Amino acid sequence: MTCENINKNVALCNCSYEPCIRKGKCCECIQYHRRSNELPACFFTDSVEKTYDRSVKRFIQCFK
Ligand code: SF4
Repeated sequence: MTCENINKNVALCNCSYEPCIRKGKCCECIQYHRRSNELPACFFTDSVEKTYDRSVKRFIQCFK
């Protein structure tokens, strides 16, 4: 089954990790990062996202 929102999701995605196979598949992206206590790129500003530190700790630091 193909996600009917994939083009819209990709257009909104700020993730700079180009080889990722989950780009635009937000449900897979969330599950993948949640397993490691992380958040997807779109929870971070572009500059923080580029560090690839997607930890909950970093998220809290960003929004304190
Ligand atoms: S946030 Fe993670 S899973 Fe989502 S598109 Fe970027 S690298 Fe892939």
